[in-house]
Amino acid sequence: MTAITADSLGRAAIRLPAAVFWPALLLAAAWGAMLYSSHVPEAIGLLLPYLPYGLGLVGAIIGWRFNRSRLVFSMAILVIGHWLLLGPASNIKPGTTGEVGYMAYAFLFPIGLVTLSLLHERGLLSRLGLTRALGFAAVGGVAVAIAGAHFWLVDDVAGSLHDWVRLVLSLRLVPQAYLPQTTIPALALVAFGAAALFIVLRLVALGNPPLESGALGALVAVGLALHFAGNASTGSVFFTTAATTLLIAAIQDGYRLAFHDELTGLPGRRALMNETMKLGSRYAIAMLDVDHFKKFNDTYGHDVGDQVLRMVASRMEMVGGGGKAFRYGGEEFTIVFSGKSSDEAVEHLDSLRQNIKDSGFTIRSKDRKKKNAENRSNGKTKNGRKVSVTISIGVAERSDNNPSPDTVIKAADQALYRAKKGGRNQVSV
Ligand code: GH3
Ligand code: MG
Ligand code: MG
Repeated sequence: MTAITADSLGRAAIRLPAAVFWPALLLAAAWGAMLYSSHVPEAIGLLLPYLPYGLGLVGAIIGWRFNRSRLVFSMAILVIGHWLLLGPASNIKPGTTGEVGYMAYAFLFPIGLVTLSLLHERGLLSRLGLTRALGFAAVGGVAVAIAGAHFWLVDDVAGSLHDWVRLVLSLRLVPQAYLPQTTIPALALVAFGAAALFIVLRLVALGNPPLESGALGALVAVGLALHFAGNASTGSVFFTTAATTLLIAAIQDGYRLAFHDELTGLPGRRALMNETMKLGSRYAIAMLDVDHFKKFNDTYGHDVGDQVLRMVASRMEMVGGGGKAFRYGGEEFTIVFSGKSSDEAVEHLDSLRQNIKDSGFTIRSKDRKKKNAENRSNGKTKNGRKVSVTISIGVAERSDNNPSPDTVIKAADQALYRAKKGGRNQVSV
């Protein structure tokens, strides 16, 4: 688990707009398609009712092949919702089976989405995956049995059951004035609101993972599909939006897995190689290495070492001068300054070095492996011992001697070696 600090929360909040860019763009496009539906080419109009199923199938196959049960489940829930809205629940007149199905789906969808975001990924065809599938199917089955009560219960009983469902789901926990005018029942609206709040908080707390922004987009899209119930093509437009949002999120998540380092969240070596391909004729590259890190690991344990790497990485991410930080490997990092000379980069690198030295690292007592074992201690704080963490940095720029990123990295490595030799906690050019 990544430690959540005020710092990381602040940064995640700042990046929130970028994180929800795709969902917002798709929703805006869907809204436009709804407003100007008469201008939408007929071919697309004919295709529209099938799009959610097609996308659902694609998502389910991707989810199955890449062991992403969350994607499979969410696509299944979307496909069911779309089928319901265009089929049995296309008529939501009070007292009908369609109405009960509609209300039940509106209430269960946000809960299902939040449940999926809370479950740890365990694959689809594992025992746990199948148990979960059964769980979802059971909830759906109960909803179907209740909505279709007229088929298997005496009409009077079925009628009372439906009245009861309507009564419960229309329960207003919030005064009517605060609820929008909509066919979505009051309790379902509250579920939607709570789910939205929950996902946004999770987005910020987890540093904007794509799957969460995708879930937020799908939540809004399905909410709109339900709100505009009765208009089949609008329902299809918004369910298509929801499925597309989830697919894009899954692709982004795959990209993040391939290019980002799991421990620190920084882009990794592969991303660095991609970045260096894009560099022009003027750039500087810095290599950074944590000082005496082995000793840190030996004294406090590997877990504390990992936390130190996260802290250091989060500072590096904030380096000024347009520098982009990467985890090179182990406790070594790289910062690329496109369009900058070594001299220009040095000032930002030195503030970074100072910043890391000043922030230090607090060892909570339960983390401490050996007591009084460390002479790097700066003193005690209320929650634990503060120890200093320092880094050494070597930087080099592109020049006639070092014409390629590879050679610049080598030169930066040599500069780093000089920084270590020179006593560590310093920047060498
Ligand atoms: P120097 O100041 O010369 O850099 O000393 P150092 O101890 O930092 O140097 P060295 O490169 O020998 O030590 C690197 C250590 O980093 C070795 C390894 O145990 C540790 N390390 C590498 N990757 C990780 C990681 O992901 N997590 C943790 N906790 N430790 C790691
Ligand atoms: Mg090293
Ligand atoms: Mg080191």
